[in-house]
Amino acid sequence: MSDADATPPPDGGVAVLGVPDASADESVKKRKPRLPLSVVPGTPVDYPADEAGVPLGASSLGGIPVAAKLSRKELHAGQRNGEVGMLHSWELVTAVDGPGTRMTTFFAGCPLRCLYCHNPDTITTRHGLPVRADQLLKRIKRYRGVFAATGGGITLSGGESLAQPEFVRRILAGARELGVHTALDTSGFLGRNADDEMLSNVNLVLLDVKAGDEDTYRRVTGRTLQPTLDFGRRLADAGVEIWIRFVLVPGLTDAPSTIEPIAEYAASLSSVTRVEVLPFHQMGSSKWTELGMDYHLTDTPPPSPELVEDVRDIFRSRGLTTY
Ligand code: SF4
Repeated sequence: MSDADATPPPDGGVAVLGVPDASADESVKKRKPRLPLSVVPGTPVDYPADEAGVPLGASSLGGIPVAAKLSRKELHAGQRNGEVGMLHSWELVTAVDGPGTRMTTFFAGCPLRCLYCHNPDTITTRHGLPVRADQLLKRIKRYRGVFAATGGGITLSGGESLAQPEFVRRILAGARELGVHTALDTSGFLGRNADDEMLSNVNLVLLDVKAGDEDTYRRVTGRTLQPTLDFGRRLADAGVEIWIRFVLVPGLTDAPSTIEPIAEYAASLSSVTRVEVLPFHQMGSSKWTELGMDYHLTDTPPPSPELVEDVRDIFRSRGLTTY
């Protein structure tokens, strides 16, 4: 996910939890700051767990039944064949994560280590719960009317959904069968896990390009940039619509030497229809402390509105529709 909250917010952005069952349909909302892990119903981090690592007593993820009581072997088999995915949470949002009202599902586990990650609790699968694909699809089906009325759909976010490609494959195919618009919010680092058949079921990719040069990308994420660039090129060649997302962090990603290449790249992809420049903020910093992780951006301020507009102008100067 992209991360950083703004309008529209980041992948790494905000908010949270599965929507409680009873009020689910009334809960369509603008994003709010994600709550601490411990408030996710039934997912206390350090509670006693069963053999597969599922916290005892965890029966649902915001109303979606958890596949509890699986042996470790059954869980791994389910993950391999895509029947089971490790999910962190889900929410209904409007005007973020794609067009219309969206059911955004946050996957647990991510290969990147972004310094500004707003949801560090999604980085490991330890903070996820196993959910069966058919149960998630059942919930998606429930919102078909909302999606149809608002031009919305589902967005698979994270963490990194492409770390669980078989589960993603099932969800995308099932959603398309239901006639639901599908989006992936991804760093693209694991784009190689998305084969052509999977991409044929994707309407939109929110591609998080975290820096435009290898040195900065590595400093921000701990990983390499090229897989993201390669994935974006594949998407464009396949005609999959792309929204580029970039988090602007003063002192980290604000140099023209890292922004200009992203703008050049975005302008070179025929299927990019939008660029989102997301201002860095500190809303996720407390979670790093709660998780006992070192946070390196404590003293980093958000970018000024003037800087944000200047950066947006860099993209606009290439003819890109930019927010
Ligand atoms: S570490 Fe992963 S989940 Fe966090 S912002 Fe980076 S890509 Fe997104």
